[in-house]
Parts: sequence; structure tokens; C-alpha cells
Amino acid sequence: MSEAPEFKKYMCLICGFIYDEQLGMPDAGISPGTHWDDIPLSWRCPDCGAGREDFEMAEF
Ligand SMILES: [Zn+2]
Repeated sequence: MSEAPEFKKYMCLICGFIYDEQLGMPDAGISPGTHWDDIPLSWRCPDCGAGREDFEMAEF
């Protein structure tokens, strides 16, 4: 049995920005593969400045 890492995406409800766990956000110091729960609470949407509470998991 193999346990493949499962990456999710989260969308900013205000501007539509997508955070992809698989890609991370290297420009903001967030390594690829960083899960949403591991992102600092102080993190803000780079496009509109919304907090994490304004993001919702997105299914694709
Ligand atoms: Zn945003």
C-alpha cells in the first residue's frame, strides 16, 4: 500500500487567488508541499491582503 501525499488547493473568497499546497509560495517563503495548516496565521493573501479565514478549500 502506498500513501501518496495529498495536496489541496485553497481559494481566496475575496479575490479568487489560489494557494496550491503542492506549489507552495516560494516568493513568500513558503516551500512547495507546505500544507495549509502549516502556514503561519499571520500569512495574508498576496493579492488582496485577506487573512486565512477568508480562504476556502477548493475542489478541482
Ligand atoms: Zn485575496
